[in-house]
Amino acid sequence: MCGIIGVSNHKEAAEIAFLGLYALQHRGEEAAGIATYDGRNVHIIKNLGLLEDAFDGRSLRELKGRTAIGHCRYSTTGSNNIKNVQPFLATHKTKAIAIAHNGNLTNVDVLYKNLEEEGAIFQTTMDSEIIVHLLAHSRNENIKQWFTDVLMQLQGAFSLVFLVEDMIVGVRDPQGFRPLCLGERDDSYILASETCALDLIGAKFVREIQPGEVVFIKDKTIESFFLPGSEQARRAHCIFEFIYFARPDSEIFNGNVYSVRKALGAQLAREHPVDADFVMAIPDSGNYAALGYAKQLGLPLEVGIIRNHYIGRTFIQPTQFLRDFRVRVKLNPIRSVLKDKRIIVVEDSIVRGTTARSRVQELRNAGAKEIHLRISCPPIKSPCFYGIDFPSKRELIAANKTIPEIAKFIQVDSLQYLSMEGMLSVMKNSQDFCHACFSGKYPVAVPRIKSKYLLEEGR
Ligand code: 5GP
Ligand code: MG
Repeated sequence: MCGIIGVSNHKEAAEIAFLGLYALQHRGEEAAGIATYDGRNVHIIKNLGLLEDAFDGRSLRELKGRTAIGHCRYSTTGSNNIKNVQPFLATHKTKAIAIAHNGNLTNVDVLYKNLEEEGAIFQTTMDSEIIVHLLAHSRNENIKQWFTDVLMQLQGAFSLVFLVEDMIVGVRDPQGFRPLCLGERDDSYILASETCALDLIGAKFVREIQPGEVVFIKDKTIESFFLPGSEQARRAHCIFEFIYFARPDSEIFNGNVYSVRKALGAQLAREHPVDADFVMAIPDSGNYAALGYAKQLGLPLEVGIIRNHYIGRTFIQPTQFLRDFRVRVKLNPIRSVLKDKRIIVVEDSIVRGTTARSRVQELRNAGAKEIHLRISCPPIKSPCFYGIDFPSKRELIAANKTIPEIAKFIQVDSLQYLSMEGMLSVMKNSQDFCHACFSGKYPVAVPRIKSKYLLEEGR
């Protein structure tokens, strides 16, 4: 998953992009980059690590110009090395173009083969680089035609921000898998993955970019059009953005993330109540569903685990060794709250089962008498090919074990998940969501070759 931002017509374009990415850091902690245009040249700086590590005051000063785009990365395609960090740069005739991409393309193999046959030389192992090549290879003079020509070849999930000299371009795929919104501040427009980025930079939310929409922004003018056929396309917003990924202070897909999570918790309580002394969350991601769950049953809500805020998300480090370590260091239980208590623990999701198992173990060690685990989404049984890092069935615990088996593995007194119908009952326009990770129903054909390292193997 990734966070993307675009800033038009602002004398502090790079600073605004930096701050916007700061608010989007939860969408990708592995690497970050910003590209700007100063009227003559494109400047680009990208580095591995968190925003704070990737940039300093000097690098921001070097990023001159009134137009900027930025990206923070979490590798869903390609390895985590510096070459794969976005934005990517290309030259089309004399125009410099940079791109930042959130989502995964599903027809990479076909596009890649065609481009290599035409002589394209790839510098990275990222699906996003393909888009830059397609743009550089297109012959169209008219900019709208040029973009249409390229975007119509893409399949899968793509929220995109381009920098084309002093213009920024925002795009959402016709299914609208990933979010992208538009804000304004003074004389500039801002494109961002989530509205929490607009809040931080003091920009006003204007609207979401619509599925299939392409917006060209230059100075304070916006021109928008829809990709042919996109208005009739089936919508497939990622339901997991609401469950886990987006920040609770964002508005996405016409809804407020905080209230959706709370409503999921309330629905979970209606479906799977249990008697206990109190409800608690596995912080932070389980907090909002726990609130809804406790309120629905009229049970007290306690804080039984304290989060160490100086460590990032457990998934971001892609090796199992580091993941195990980070899970342990991140959260610490409070003995005096837990001792001899019957507790309901609410968690947003179980992916591999690592987090829940180790948390439950620690709650037991801290003296909890009964532990009833409640999950505010259905069992995750199928991998995601549209940008979330649920890699293979082999690693998804619910694809390999029944609910009682998972309960045994995690060592809880009871385990229940929210039902599919219950989850959808909470969503406005529930038919407009992708829930392939739960249902196995993929709205767009999945790639024939499924590895995240597709473009690295055999090369
Ligand atoms: P597990 O240990 O079961 O593999 O992971 C579940 C935990 O990771 C939950 O606490 C959930 O909040 C979080 N989580 C779920 N999906 C993702 C993801 O795609 N990325 C990251 N960073 N965390 C996730
Ligand atoms: Mg969590």
